Amino acid sequence: MAVRPRRQAVVVDVGGVKVGGKHPIVVQSMTNTDTADVPSTVNQVMALARAGSELVRVTVNTEQAAAAVPRIAGTLDQFGVRVPIIGDFHYNGHILLKKYPECARALAKYRINPGNVNIGRKTDDNFRTMIEVAIENHKPVRIGVNWGSLDAALLTRMMDENSKSPQPKDAREVTLEAMVASAVESARAAERHGLAHDRIILSAKVSGVQDLIDVYRALAAACDYPLHLGLTEAGMGNKGIVASVAALAPLLQEGIGDTIRTSLTPPPNGDRTEEVTVSQQILQSLGIRSFTPQVTACPGCGRTTSTFFQEMADRIQTYLRDQMPKWKPDYPGVETMTVAVMGCVVNGPGESKHSDIGISLPGTSEDPKAPVYVDGRLLTTLKGERIVAEFIEILNRYVSTHYAKS
Ligand code: SF4
Repeated sequence: MAVRPRRQAVVVDVGGVKVGGKHPIVVQSMTNTDTADVPSTVNQVMALARAGSELVRVTVNTEQAAAAVPRIAGTLDQFGVRVPIIGDFHYNGHILLKKYPECARALAKYRINPGNVNIGRKTDDNFRTMIEVAIENHKPVRIGVNWGSLDAALLTRMMDENSKSPQPKDAREVTLEAMVASAVESARAAERHGLAHDRIILSAKVSGVQDLIDVYRALAAACDYPLHLGLTEAGMGNKGIVASVAALAPLLQEGIGDTIRTSLTPPPNGDRTEEVTVSQQILQSLGIRSFTPQVTACPGCGRTTSTFFQEMADRIQTYLRDQMPKWKPDYPGVETMTVAVMGCVVNGPGESKHSDIGISLPGTSEDPKAPVYVDGRLLTTLKGERIVAEFIEILNRYVSTHYAKS
């Protein structure tokens, strides 16, 4: 089954990165440093950008954070890191954006949560203020609904209306409908306040996989704004990764989603960039975008002789990822290369022939030699201590002869 054509959304320019239309699905991430801590935030933004994040969001929650934003942007600029920075606002965005105009100018986009921007107010003045700042600074906004902070007044109204209907829907259905309504009605309000149609991106995040699929299908059908896709609060480790894949894959397969974020909770002092590589891997596994050459490795079994096979697969995978910043400008298309590292003769040669380059290591009781296949043909057979080094030499030769700019 092929991926369905992308739903046609308008194109929004976020600091030079195009989101929507036929533009590649954009990978984004968010820092977890204190934004007021400029060196830590700059370091993390740089790490996320190096890992391939094409947009990076920072929380702007206090006056100190708002004051830090222009310094963060300036330092990144000095280091030659051009990734657009998005400001995440809740409760007080209208105050901070007005009081810190340099922050408003330095950010490439403002995230507005319609569930908390007007809390306790009868008018939408706070929301309107943020939209007016966006218009003044020629910035797009993301209207980001989250069911953890869904507009309580809207939900109550929709629940009341539902309870009076002859066939009331269940609470889940009404909640998901309220999320879509909150996003779409807020976008229309932003347009009424003067923001251009092509300056708006929407999201409606929930933490349940089936809920996310339902809410995004409805949102996709209700509008043509680009959609920011992500399972909110996906969680830690395998649970977070698997739940994100389970939620995002069916939607991406249906052509829904113009930019994605994987919201993983890293362990204390863990690597924040994992959320970037997971998002890339989701897109690459679905055949939607390529980021880095892919290693096909068998799981290993009783036929593999030692940990040598796992170590080799790991070394090759790491080598390919480490080379990408150097290879990418000089070898266009190298990110589509496929490499097989297999543990024995059972599936090794077959899988190797299906890859651009493949090596099949000797299993137990096999001759200690490793046939290498290139473009489906046996190229050579490696033996001895230098198998990995020689295989890497073959890989380098393949890259320079197959992907060099013509
Ligand atoms: S290719 Fe060989 S080593 Fe790898 S899982 Fe299959 S049988 Fe086991």
